[in-house]
Amino acid sequence: MTPMRTCIGCGAVKPKQELARIVRAPDGKTVLDTTGKVNGRGAYICVDINCFKKIKVSGSLSRALAIAIEPDKIDELEKMFKSNYGLNK
Ligand SMILES: [Zn+2]
Repeated sequence: MTPMRTCIGCGAVKPKQELARIVRAPDGKTVLDTTGKVNGRGAYICVDINCFKKIKVSGSLSRALAIAIEPDKIDELEKMFKSNYGLNK
């Protein structure tokens, strides 16, 4: 069985490997996990800038990771997200 995960942006349920993962690492940093191997509490999101825009507005990333995330940090993650997945258009 393919593990399924829910996008925190649009709520779609998709196979885990099709989604990007954002992790609250044990050191407290919030990182984009491009390897799928970073330990910590993770949240999944479609590889879609529209989903990222949704989480910026809704605050669902903070809820999913159970920490407060500064707007600066979200912007930083957005840049990583865009460059990693080639979404700079
Ligand atoms: Zn989505």
